[in-house]
Amino acid sequence: VKASWEKRDLSLRHPFTIARGSRTTSPSVILRLEHDGTTGIGEAAPSSRYDETVETVDQFLASLPWQRFHDAFLLEEICSTVVSHAPGNNAAKAAVDLALHDWLGNRLGQPLWRILGLNPAKAPVTSFTIGIDTPEAVRKKVAEAEEFPVLKVKVGIPDDEMIIQAIRDCTDKPIRADANEGWTDKSLALDKICQFAEMGVELVEQPMPANRLDDMVWLRERVPVPLFADESVRSGADLKRLSGSFHGINIKLMKCGGIREALRMIHTARSLGLSVMLGCMIETSVGISGAAQLAPLADYCDLDGNILITNDPYTGVLSGRGKLVFSDRPGLGLLDRNG
Ligand code: MG
Repeated sequence: VKASWEKRDLSLRHPFTIARGSRTTSPSVILRLEHDGTTGIGEAAPSSRYDETVETVDQFLASLPWQRFHDAFLLEEICSTVVSHAPGNNAAKAAVDLALHDWLGNRLGQPLWRILGLNPAKAPVTSFTIGIDTPEAVRKKVAEAEEFPVLKVKVGIPDDEMIIQAIRDCTDKPIRADANEGWTDKSLALDKICQFAEMGVELVEQPMPANRLDDMVWLRERVPVPLFADESVRSGADLKRLSGSFHGINIKLMKCGGIREALRMIHTARSLGLSVMLGCMIETSVGISGAAQLAPLADYCDLDGNILITNDPYTGVLSGRGKLVFSDRPGLGLLDRNG
């Protein structure tokens, strides 16, 4: 298997602000694998929250024993080697996993969702994310997001009620709120969640810091809407200890290391009675199309990372009015915008 990769700076349509900070670009690494005349494309969208940068992705990919991977069909063996090669580095690992799945589909001439036995018509609609902003700017973004039936809004700052109210001034569509660990007091978090629920917020993601699971048990017993873990969950090994503190989990390929681990997490979550959301980082259509292949297995989708950027090098699974639109193209269904 031959590998090459290149760094991309993804330009955000609007400066993107969450409880942890603000940015106008986001890094990505596009990986290209070739084996036996067939190509597969993958992506790593590294996040500093999980100690990854384009430099760590580059180092990880450069250190892999590519010469030992002599048959790209042996996805389980290659991915096991990649996973145990070094701890962490899950976005870099996801790039390899995605590229191998794309290769597999391209080689077999079938879309990955078909190889996985999934029905694209079962995919839930995706929400569209609105970052933290002034009420005036939030109202403008809500107008721009008119075609999306569900909004996900970033909260987790002191006067975040104003953001929810700004949305409610314009629309009564369902809202999902993501505090990104921003509320550090459990009583305050409970007040916020109850107030948001009355304003039509249907679920709240990561209200408190990732390791505050005792506070989450307390909160879970009292809240009127489901709570979803994001920063508190990376891979399947985290799930057992989360089942008393959250109602559901947000699975992201860049956190867990790819499609293979995400599938395992979905089935583990089901066995523990946890709901499943499929989420993303700021990613190109490569990562988003990879996650979308699993969407028919999810209860909720938040796969809009590619819609938030202006220089996506690929098209793949599209999102029209929030509905994920799958093509019959093989693998992840990617088309290079530059031919
Ligand atoms: Mg989140």
